Amino acid sequence: MNIHEYQGKELLRRYGVAVLDGHLATTPEEAEAAARRLPGPVYVVKSQIHAGGRGAGRFTNDPNGKGGVRLARSPEEVKAEAAKMLGSVLVTKQTGPEGKQVNRLYVEAGCEIARELYLALLLDRDVGRIAIMASTEGGMEIEEVAEKHPEKILRVHVDPATGVQGWHGRKLAFGLGLEGKQVQAFVGFVTALYRAYTELDCAIVEINPLVVTKGGDVVALDAKVSFDDNALFRHKDLEALRDDTEMDPKELDAVRNDLNYVALDGEIGCMVNGAGLAMATMDIIKLYGSSPANFLDVGGTADSARVTQAFRIITSDPNVKAILVNIFGGIAKCDMIATGIVEASKNLSLSVPLVVRLEGTNVELGKKILAESGLAIIPADNLADAAQKAVAAVKKAA
Ligand code: ADP
Ligand code: MG
Repeated sequence: MNIHEYQGKELLRRYGVAVLDGHLATTPEEAEAAARRLPGPVYVVKSQIHAGGRGAGRFTNDPNGKGGVRLARSPEEVKAEAAKMLGSVLVTKQTGPEGKQVNRLYVEAGCEIARELYLALLLDRDVGRIAIMASTEGGMEIEEVAEKHPEKILRVHVDPATGVQGWHGRKLAFGLGLEGKQVQAFVGFVTALYRAYTELDCAIVEINPLVVTKGGDVVALDAKVSFDDNALFRHKDLEALRDDTEMDPKELDAVRNDLNYVALDGEIGCMVNGAGLAMATMDIIKLYGSSPANFLDVGGTADSARVTQAFRIITSDPNVKAILVNIFGGIAKCDMIATGIVEASKNLSLSVPLVVRLEGTNVELGKKILAESGLAIIPADNLADAAQKAVAAVKKAA
């Protein structure tokens, strides 16, 4: 789960990570009031969307104008900039061409930058440890640095048994060319960030840029914080930070119904139990010349209510031209799944071809329920047969 910069900074502040003062605003008046609570004389008005590259981004209604991060020299100017930014659509390298509407702004104290650095914590799966990455090339996307100047990325790994140590921070600080009191400040920064990362069960914390100010302070100017979804159950307070407007509505619906759903851009809706089988189903659809509209694992405990929710989400996607149900009945028995499919098809008055492949516990009973339902369900005997029939149904519809 991703959160906004202002939310990330608020959390990091609690762990003692150095950030500047700032306030959230959703109207130009709030933005002006927010600026009045800051020391000035320079303010920065920052678009809050779940995408990076805001500074270099452009608004669709003003393609030659200023970007999504703007400097202002008075509270009145903050208000004027906020009025232009709020409600407008910002396109950045990370939003895709459709962009994202800006509904929230973060009005932050401006600072004088001496150096822009990069710092991130993430899980290095190859090593099985948290990696702390740093680079002198702050402000640039790290993927670009990795491609053009891989030698400019410094990396240390943290042994989970000892946690972060002073030498981790010092090694990076010296590598970044920090001097004097900046070294100690940086070490403190890294230590606080590591605590935040582990205690909040983060997936990534990226500070780009981490700046050294003209006064010699080390401060996070940007913060990208995302959480490990599998650990969210133990952070109920963090779930409240989810911004529903940033999510694909189908995925949000799925999260609320406890379904493992990922929206894709193909034309065959998939309902499968088990993540592995769901991946195999997507592969075989590709093999036979079409593409999946989604990944969906209904889980091992699927009942007819879950099946109905799953169908509802799948069919809310206008790109879906056929549905492929691929269930291996284990704990979820085939007859129960079949009943769920029949109920859901009737309740939702399904209008696209439905191919069903059932296997496993009570499969004969399940097939009988489908056959006697009177619905135009296309039965399939195995995975290949199912995929071919679904692809054929799509081709026929086109
Ligand atoms: P993004 O990465 O989405 O473009 P950032 O928060 O990194 O957004 O801001 C872009 C740039 O704007 C930064 O690299 C920095 O140069 C400048 N900037 C951001 N916040 C401030 C601030 N509070 N004071 C001065 N400059 C800032
Ligand atoms: Mg940034």
